[in-house]
Amino acid sequence: MTDCIFCKIAAGEIPSRKVYEDEDILAFHDIKPAAPVHFLIIPKKHIPTLADVAENDIPVMGKIMAVAGKLAKQEGCHDGFRTIVNTGRVGCQEVYHVHIHILGGDKPLGLMLGK
Ligand code: AMP
Ligand code: ZN
Repeated sequence: MTDCIFCKIAAGEIPSRKVYEDEDILAFHDIKPAAPVHFLIIPKKHIPTLADVAENDIPVMGKIMAVAGKLAKQEGCHDGFRTIVNTGRVGCQEVYHVHIHILGGDKPLGLMLGK
């Protein structure tokens, strides 16, 4: 996808504050943090939304879930964190390249439905 901001970040064409990278996935800090810790994890492959995830995407999506806890701890979430995936119009998704938000800090985050 040439016109996708997260594809461009994955390709290194747009800078990001990287948290983790390997051949399949990338984690980077959210540009507009909604909590003291707020980063995103994406597959490098362009998948528009969670509703578009197919069977052959299971390994990469599994990898994202498998690293989430480790990265959260590494970024300072020592007593839990919140994971959010916004999907489509009703889910108020803004960037149509699937990503999971990891949000945390010292204090409980409350409801955070403020979009
Ligand atoms: P969503 O509403 O789930 O699609 O969230 C998209 C998220 O991407 C928002 O929290 C934005 O702040 C974040 N975002 C947009 N552009 C960038 C960027 N260039 N670098 C980092 N985060 C970004
Ligand atoms: Zn993309």
